[in-house]
Amino acid sequence: LFVVFEGGEGTGKSTQLAKLATTLIDAGHRVAVTREPGATPVGRRIRELLLERAEDAVTARAEALLYAADRAQHVATVVRPALERGEVVVSDRFVDSSLAYQGAGRTLPDGDVAWLSDWATGGLRPDLVILLDLDPALGLRRAADRGTPDRLERESLAFHGRVRQAFLDLAATEPARYLVLDAGLPIEILADRIRERVTELVE
Ligand code: C5P
Repeated sequence: LFVVFEGGEGTGKSTQLAKLATTLIDAGHRVAVTREPGATPVGRRIRELLLERAEDAVTARAEALLYAADRAQHVATVVRPALERGEVVVSDRFVDSSLAYQGAGRTLPDGDVAWLSDWATGGLRPDLVILLDLDPALGLRRAADRGTPDRLERESLAFHGRVRQAFLDLAATEPARYLVLDAGLPIEILADRIRERVTELVE
């Protein structure tokens, strides 16, 4: 089973992902927790290029290719092997983040980003995407309260608004494969909803 958490800045993905992993492990499942970008040695170097070096301005197409390279390595060396071992794979971000950030955010054509992502993954798709949805004005404030990384300030509220809408549009086209939750709900309520949905799928 392949479960992905998606959402904008400050939506609490990491918190919910950790809770879900604990729940699954306590229930006796073998779980692989992973993330994009940066889950592999090559990916960590790509993540550094993308996120930690504000001075290296990366163009939109180069950015899309770097995320795709990170994803190709991630799928081939982490996600597929874990799925083949029968583990539940839980990833913080996947293809939808590229459709939202590189596609809608940077305004690259959706079809191009979709094709590139599909090529990078060899067509692997999550069984469930958990979308934590939040008004970006609130999410950015929540992210800033944790100590604002400079990169958050590089993009406008309009950019983050396009990202949010793209995630919602993806969920609307395939409701059966998505669980869309209001990330403003209390942490424990969100964790319960996620646990209920994932439990149905693993049993
Ligand atoms: O999930 P996390 O906060 O670690 O992601 C790091 C940042 O990378 C996000 O804030 C987002 O701005 C950016 N990102 C992106 N395109 C992706 C994945 C992440 O721009 N495909």
